[in-house]
Amino acid sequence: MERGLQAPDWFSPVTAQVAVRAATDACLPRRQGGVRPLRRTFDVAATDTPAKARAVNIAPGSTGSQARHTMTQRPTLFVSATSRAAQPTPLMARRTPWRSSLALVALLLSACASTPLPPWPGTPPAAQARAPEALPRVQRGTVVPAPLGQARDGVVVTPLPSSPPAPAAADTAAAAPYGPAVAARFAAPPTSYHTPGLAAERSSFTTNAELGAWLRDVAGTAPRGATLARVLSLGASQHGEPIEGLLLTRAKDTDIASLEANGRSTVVLIGQQHGDEPAGSEALLVIARELAQGLLEPLLDRINVVVIPRANPDGAARGTRTTANGVDMNRDHLLLNTPEAQALARAVRDYRPILVLDAHEFTVVGRYLQKFNAIQRYDALLQYTTTANYPEFLTKASEEWYHQPMLGALQSQGLSSEWYYTTSTRPDDRRISMGGAQPDTGRNVNGLKNAVSLLVETRGVGLGRMHIQRRVHTQVTAITSALRSTAERATHLEQVRSFVARDIASKACNGQVVVEAQATPMQRELTMLDPETGADRTLKVDWNSSLALRTVKSRARPCGYWLAPSATTAVERLQLLGVQVLRIAEPGALLADTYNETARDTTERADVRGTVAGGASIIRSQVTPVRRAIDVPAGSFYVPLNQGLANLAVAALEPDTQSSYFANRLIDDLASTARVMKVPSLVFEDTDE
Ligand SMILES: [Zn+2]
Repeated sequence: MERGLQAPDWFSPVTAQVAVRAATDACLPRRQGGVRPLRRTFDVAATDTPAKARAVNIAPGSTGSQARHTMTQRPTLFVSATSRAAQPTPLMARRTPWRSSLALVALLLSACASTPLPPWPGTPPAAQARAPEALPRVQRGTVVPAPLGQARDGVVVTPLPSSPPAPAAADTAAAAPYGPAVAARFAAPPTSYHTPGLAAERSSFTTNAELGAWLRDVAGTAPRGATLARVLSLGASQHGEPIEGLLLTRAKDTDIASLEANGRSTVVLIGQQHGDEPAGSEALLVIARELAQGLLEPLLDRINVVVIPRANPDGAARGTRTTANGVDMNRDHLLLNTPEAQALARAVRDYRPILVLDAHEFTVVGRYLQKFNAIQRYDALLQYTTTANYPEFLTKASEEWYHQPMLGALQSQGLSSEWYYTTSTRPDDRRISMGGAQPDTGRNVNGLKNAVSLLVETRGVGLGRMHIQRRVHTQVTAITSALRSTAERATHLEQVRSFVARDIASKACNGQVVVEAQATPMQRELTMLDPETGADRTLKVDWNSSLALRTVKSRARPCGYWLAPSATTAVERLQLLGVQVLRIAEPGALLADTYNETARDTTERADVRGTVAGGASIIRSQVTPVRRAIDVPAGSFYVPLNQGLANLAVAALEPDTQSSYFANRLIDDLASTARVMKVPSLVFEDTDE
């Protein structure tokens, strides 16, 4: 497949102008028009009053060319509403409360600054960011890294201490789930990969101790020229196993400030959220080493990479899908109840990736044989973010800059692929569904952080070690394609991210927001394999398409959400997601929609597979918003929606959805939350910690 290096042709001038108008109209008084400046300077006076209270007094209608925050006197500081300010910068907020309030002010105002768009063909060259140059291609015609352990010029490969194979329930040599005719469809790849868990004599995959040793070894031997590698301690599993990552960069240093200063986009790669899906983890060990000192190293001229090979060490040790307490952590990315999901959220918040790629494996035989008398055919199943309010431009970037090239990369290696799909665990339910629309998976939640977020699934669950080299080869090929796409498109991707963050922020208080969306049922043909002959068999299936989401419920988009002082758990989780939350310093009043509950029962959280593992019963409420003035006490919270992550706050805080903080009991009662319908005039504390 031809890899495009041209400017983003989907940014047609017409589309972009409409988008710019939509974004700025939201802020302009209706009677006012005209061209708005691209960059504005705001006059921000900081208070020197006691406590650390700072008034952020936003006069309604202060949307003219020079919106102004009036506070008490001196000193006067000038803050430019740059794209950086438009995107919440949690790091800065956490580390420097003083600057955080300034950033906040800029953030609040920048919602009404004009929204610069990415360039598109037709923009004068001088004003247009240069299209990325072709990357050095170390091996034409292949994206497959050489096998590890092959020393090349200037590369010192230190062999890992060999450790005895550890017994693991995960991969006791199970009987082959199908016969030789099916197996023959999946020949070994031309490349042989070497990790501790892929050694021929092994019966178990890489242990967590071996994984840590591998990352340390790569970090220790990596530095060559400008490349730096650092092992990251991201958290601990419920059984105390370390969750580790490897940062690879050519910034001056490996701390976050150096990465920010260096300006390269960052990618986060995640493996093995589900413990019984080992190929992603083994592949990411390969990727880590190739980035540090192998064929992928040139990509670090353009991007930083954080590799997190194993997000669920306890599940991996036991060969189970869930975490130790039985939770499906890939439905926990909004709630963040598990330390494993928290560790990933922290990493994404801190490193602000432009791409998050999540490596999984799918069931090959099991319920497909049961329901369709067929076996899964495709090497890879792929899907990007499909959830309500995901910006259209990010969907297009996902499709055109990532999905299409990835299909080509897989095809060039003789690997087949389809959209990701699954089927319910209920034997009588023969529907096939793409990955769902709920904002609870890593794929969807990380997308709502204004990143491209990709799911890559290989043909693996239930196969033990069968075809493992091909499964790893598929992962390595897909991941390499995504890394290459990011390196090639980094400039454009950052422009898109900046645009969508501002666009989202500018919509606060205006229009509608989708509260719940659903996939669209349709029919299509799907190819599986005959279990006896291994031949292709085309089935006509009922197919729920997440590429076409239907709005089930929408509401007027509020200016923000109010939360009671008791909602501290919800506040902590929102902050872990990177959402900006303000603590109200002095009592005040708000015009709000409160939730009037008209019906309630309890139910179970469900996804397209069935009941979500480990999800306690949830509250299913029906509510009607009721407009009124409410008094709010000091110590309560305000979540402004004129921030780039507003749609994530909507997903968490509209109470009548199965993913919400109220339904999942992170917010005690409906009286603890309200939709703020007019820009508030409140005094906020200086820090949002
Ligand atoms: Zn999975």
